[in-house]
Amino acid sequence: MGCVWWTPVPVGYQNRMRGGGTGWPALCGLVGLLACGGDDGARADAGAWDPSAGGGTTSDDGATTGLVSTTSASPGDSSDAPADDDTMMPEPIADVPAVDDCPRVQVMVPVGEVLNVRPDPSTANAPIGSLPNNAIVSVLDEVDGESVDGETRWFHVQYLDLEGYISAVFATCTQEDAPELVPPDGFYLPLQCGVQATVTQGNNGATSHNGLHAYAFDFGLGLGTPLVAMADGIVSLIFDETGPGDPCYGGGGPECGPYGNLVIVLHGDGSTSLYKHLNEVHVTPGEFVPRGGILGLSGSTGYSTGRHAHVMRMENCGQFKCQSIPTQFVEAGVPVTGDVVTSANCP
Ligand SMILES: [Zn+2]
Repeated sequence: MGCVWWTPVPVGYQNRMRGGGTGWPALCGLVGLLACGGDDGARADAGAWDPSAGGGTTSDDGATTGLVSTTSASPGDSSDAPADDDTMMPEPIADVPAVDDCPRVQVMVPVGEVLNVRPDPSTANAPIGSLPNNAIVSVLDEVDGESVDGETRWFHVQYLDLEGYISAVFATCTQEDAPELVPPDGFYLPLQCGVQATVTQGNNGATSHNGLHAYAFDFGLGLGTPLVAMADGIVSLIFDETGPGDPCYGGGGPECGPYGNLVIVLHGDGSTSLYKHLNEVHVTPGEFVPRGGILGLSGSTGYSTGRHAHVMRMENCGQFKCQSIPTQFVEAGVPVTGDVVTSANCP
């Protein structure tokens, strides 16, 4: 089970398909590899991004390095004992690094799905977590396990604080590095280049911007305005379970607090940014988003009295609710209630 940090999601929210329907649920049912439709445990991990986790590890069996001939000599044998046959032992070539042909794998699952990570190379036991589509993860080892579509290889992988096994059916070897996060030059308005909006509540606003939310901004927006990343980052957490017909889809009081669709992005300076009350979420955890990249569309989901986006930067406390931190937008400084701002979050 995942670590759901909001109050329990009511029945009816739990089985909502995310993303476009892809016709894959049948496969999900058959092999249980994909976390299908609203596995709410799948994407609630708010593990801290560890840039050092991107480094691949070298396979420890050396079998495919081609550095040693096929005689029985084992690289680990002590060289003290005299060779017991008179053929020349091949001289190991020292100091030549082995070429690891699969240091990392990239997850390939249908759009809107995530790939389950298992505690062992089979589908017998419950998943211990999941990986977003396109995530690049470090390979610790390659092992044989349960056959899936005739493929018996499984990768033992590590991603952030998650370690386990994924079937090779849904992962492809890559030499590509996982995106590296660097501290941003600055933070831009969460609106597309040239888009104008009114700040309907600024920092320390009387309505609700206090405590953890003291440094939040509300932008009055119509339905479906794209919200974009204030700076480069990695999507660390989303909530996208509230859809048409749900009680808090069009907003509501405090009881709707847990049901606001949101995206949290982790930045290279260790801070995060929160984008809330979204009508639609267009990203998945683990995904790299460039500054200006679309995260979702504005709406009024959750504790909200009208269409707007609640946006703030936060400390990275590994959870949904963290202390907000002061933000000065590159193009707008620190706007106050009533200010009209224009985004220069341009490519
Ligand atoms: Zn707000």
